[in-house]
Amino acid sequence: MTDLEFRKEVLDKLSPSFCAAKWYNATIWLGSGQTTSCHHPPAHLVDPDQVRTNPRLLHNTDQKKEDRRKMQAGERPLGCEYCWKIEDMGLGAISDRVYKSRIYPIEALHEARNIPVDHDVNLRTLEIAFDRTCQFACSYCNPAFSTTWVNDIRRNGPYTNLVSDGRNHFTHTHDSSQKYKITEANPYIDAFFQWWETDLHRTLQELRITGGEPLMSAHTWRLIDWFRDNRGKSHTRLAINSNLGSEVDVDRLLASVQGMDIDLYTSNEAIATQAEYIRDGLKWDDWANNVERLLNSRQFRGIHVMATINALCLGTLDQLLECIMNWKLRYGKDAISFTLNILRFPSFQSPLVLPDAQRTVYRQRLQTWLEHWADSEFIQEHEINHTQRLIDYLDVVKTPHSDAFEMPKLLNDFRQFYSQYDQRRGKNFTKTFPELKEWYNSL
Ligand code: SF4
Repeated sequence: MTDLEFRKEVLDKLSPSFCAAKWYNATIWLGSGQTTSCHHPPAHLVDPDQVRTNPRLLHNTDQKKEDRRKMQAGERPLGCEYCWKIEDMGLGAISDRVYKSRIYPIEALHEARNIPVDHDVNLRTLEIAFDRTCQFACSYCNPAFSTTWVNDIRRNGPYTNLVSDGRNHFTHTHDSSQKYKITEANPYIDAFFQWWETDLHRTLQELRITGGEPLMSAHTWRLIDWFRDNRGKSHTRLAINSNLGSEVDVDRLLASVQGMDIDLYTSNEAIATQAEYIRDGLKWDDWANNVERLLNSRQFRGIHVMATINALCLGTLDQLLECIMNWKLRYGKDAISFTLNILRFPSFQSPLVLPDAQRTVYRQRLQTWLEHWADSEFIQEHEINHTQRLIDYLDVVKTPHSDAFEMPKLLNDFRQFYSQYDQRRGKNFTKTFPELKEWYNSL
């Protein structure tokens, strides 16, 4: 069944606005006590008092129950606007509600459609973050997700003269992201473990831990230890995001995950000094060695490299992809994979700010890389599609620059941000990116 057939024959028959993610999927930020059903609707607050008596309310909030009622009645919850906009483009449009629903058995969809709205539902897929502790402060991240970013703002004050950053990512310490000190009791984390140990470990198919850097959180190790000590008790697939920086305890990780069914996701989009500039805190050699150690251990279902495609990574992205392909040749096609995710925010770091001629150079470089590997038995279909999608995105004809009104603001912010980033972090933009030097100095 194609995605379109699934939408028409299964999903729309349940209701024209039905999406199983409202019942079965969640991201929960336990540090801030916020949740959402996927990354599109804005996150909302979970009541800390209610979860003390009923931990299932970490997911089954009043707001989600109201959204479920609307979906059962064929009404559109406002927070899901992202999907409605896509669907309103035309009858054949496939929104994320199709992809987010297709992953569950059809019986589960019918069950969700008919379940009374006041019932609490057990999750099937969950992403959680315990806290924002992180030793990196990447250029495209912000204090909501990194304590090192918080320290930058505390020490040096807000970034100034940014005019396109309407969300003020770089001007304050985002204290609402970490309501409780690391040493304090956190009702959301207590509730999660209570729910996990009594109930959730039986129903959850996939649990992904994100951060901050999750392997710097004691709670992540507590959960990994639970899996090790309760072998066979849960069939939940565990996935961990890690920056695999020098400070990550890879020895402990390898010792703890023996015999577990586990995936590891790590971020990178460039190599050497350019990667170290973008992901402040990263040491390229240590990251590459850590990836190699995990591959060599053969203890993971897969290592997945997530590349956040920004304006600065395109000079060496093809070399990173080459490096991944060489790992595949040594360890197997599925041992390591990559995804290319095009950065949208902060928009002044998007590849679209680059001059046309430079985008063309980068596009051609990727095209050459793809032509070399496209027929290889070691590349996965989604990897070809992601690379081709990026090539198309960089095509100045297919994806022209943002409207003329916005571009001067984005260019202002690019220059303002990176000159302050250089000073605060002891970096040097023009030395690190010589091919962008002339353009950067002209901004
Ligand atoms: S309808 Fe779309 S936005 Fe809403 S939860 Fe589903 S996938 Fe997310």
